[in-house]
Amino acid sequence: MAQLLEVDQLKVSFRSHGGEVQAVRGVSFNIGHGEVLAVVGESGCGKSVTAQAIMKLLPKRGCRIKQGSIHFDGKDLLKLSGKEMKQIKGSQISMVFQDPMTSLNPTMKIGIQIAEGIIKHKGLNKTQAKARALELLKLAGIPNPESRYNQYPHELSGGMRQRVLIAIALACDPKLLIADEPTTALDVTIQAQILDLMKDLQHKFGTSIMLITHDLGVVAEMAQNVIVMYAGIVVESGTVADILERPKHPYTMGLLNSLPNYEEGEKERLIPIEGSPPDLYDPPKGCPFAARCEFAMEICVGELPEPFAVNDGHHSRCWLNDPRAPKVTEFAAAGR
Ligand code: SF4
Ligand code: MG
Repeated sequence: MAQLLEVDQLKVSFRSHGGEVQAVRGVSFNIGHGEVLAVVGESGCGKSVTAQAIMKLLPKRGCRIKQGSIHFDGKDLLKLSGKEMKQIKGSQISMVFQDPMTSLNPTMKIGIQIAEGIIKHKGLNKTQAKARALELLKLAGIPNPESRYNQYPHELSGGMRQRVLIAIALACDPKLLIADEPTTALDVTIQAQILDLMKDLQHKFGTSIMLITHDLGVVAEMAQNVIVMYAGIVVESGTVADILERPKHPYTMGLLNSLPNYEEGEKERLIPIEGSPPDLYDPPKGCPFAARCEFAMEICVGELPEPFAVNDGHHSRCWLNDPRAPKVTEFAAAGR
């Protein structure tokens, strides 16, 4: 079956005082029907900009999609009119953001905010929409939906607000849910509850999810496949097991080393990745990770590696995966 979402060679840049920031530099990935794809990387790597490009939420001023295509359910989103896109956004792709307070309308009862979308996109009348909204509040794990329906966002806790946002996002049975750091603003216990809820609803509705996160624990919990982004490019992609257990890119290895290993029952020494990502006003022509990479070779500085196939579906944009590259023992050991 064709993929639900196909992003191909996407390039996005922003114009500002200092020149042009090349935020996304040729990103390609697919999301299948019912698949959860995690998009991982530090802030500024282009994860959110990629999501905004899909949702056509990029700022109009100074921002340009320079290249690429985004196909959703067979349609090229970049070629749709504003009106056609609006239709798709309300009913087929929805988005959940990090901060539920700014995404909700503070002056409107939460029940009405859910019902509004249902009336607009599903053509139900007010009574039917209210019934559906109550059902969604219940599905989202909100106790006493009847009394919550008439509350305003400030009367709810952060976790409850995020549940409301998820209810709004699912109100029109979207095929794709884009969740940008959906649990980052919440404390750990609530994070786990929200992730459980998302997983539950994903199973129930078969919704595909593009899950943006910098948290590899969330990835292990939720996703089937992962892309790792660094400095506007995808440096590694594969299944969750490929990425978390058999990483083949030094940046991914670095991310894993900086993750606390709670399962071992002890606090292991965390090794942060030294240095910072390159300036995207003037990105390096070679591997963008070279300045921070302990395995860097001469070729790394001069030439951007292609995505080498490690195995079926697992790709790494690192010269060490070139069959001609010298065998580096520590690299092989780190990658297992
Ligand atoms: Fe390191 Fe070179 Fe691989 Fe880049 S291409 S990650 S610099 S070894
Ligand atoms: Mg972001």
